[in-house]
Amino acid sequence: MDSEFVRYTVEGGVAVITIDRPQAANAQNPQMLQELDQAWSDSDHDPDVRVVVLRSEGKHFSAGHDMQGGGDPSLGPKRVDGSLTVDTYFDWEERGYLHYAKRWRDLVKPSIAAVQGKCIAAGLMLCWPCDLIVAAENAQFSDPVGLMGMPGVEFFAHPWEFGPRRAKQILFTASSLTAEQARECGMVNEVVPLDTLYERTMSLAGEIAAMDPWAIRLAKRAINSAVDAMGFSHSIATNFDIHHLGHARAIASTGGQTSVMADLASMKARSK
Ligand code: ZN
Repeated sequence: MDSEFVRYTVEGGVAVITIDRPQAANAQNPQMLQELDQAWSDSDHDPDVRVVVLRSEGKHFSAGHDMQGGGDPSLGPKRVDGSLTVDTYFDWEERGYLHYAKRWRDLVKPSIAAVQGKCIAAGLMLCWPCDLIVAAENAQFSDPVGLMGMPGVEFFAHPWEFGPRRAKQILFTASSLTAEQARECGMVNEVVPLDTLYERTMSLAGEIAAMDPWAIRLAKRAINSAVDAMGFSHSIATNFDIHHLGHARAIASTGGQTSVMADLASMKARSK
């Protein structure tokens, strides 16, 4: 696979997908997301892969979306006379964000995210679709998009991941959770010292890879099905539409000239 922002290796039945844009704190541009989706798809189609590990290079797991941050500019949202419109932006986010996260979550093979440093906003949409999350002690999770007039990121799993009250506090105050707080609320499986993050994640992946893949596949299917029966996927779909009420207001008030970079810059400054 010819990728600029993502590395992919397979070893001992474990596919390791590495997000490799540390100079931009692994902020996600449309090309990176497409490359990530390709890597997930490769792991799905490779019969030698039993477990997928998602990690990122550098100090921070991911600083969120960076729509003007390099890569192929033709892959972003379509603009009409240079402006975003409500319908083209909805279409872009549904294909470019929501469908990816849902597809990764529903991969038949088990997956583990290894998270260090800051995991901001859309960074959550990379680790939440994974079945397990191992966090370094310095990990911090936040979704401060309320500062941009938005309810939360596109894949709105907040009530499920944080619990409703904690989700409200994080979203209402644009605050963050430490790794340990994320573990307490059930979002993170384990918190480990930063220098053992990769080693522990690979050891966990090795344990899972030694199990019967069919049993793991059925267990994942059963748990995701139970969560769906509790309303998860329905809520994700509905909340994506609610998310777009936020974008629609922003587009209406700016004529489609939303300054995404300025908004992201202020959001990141606030989350420091
Ligand atoms: Zn959005």
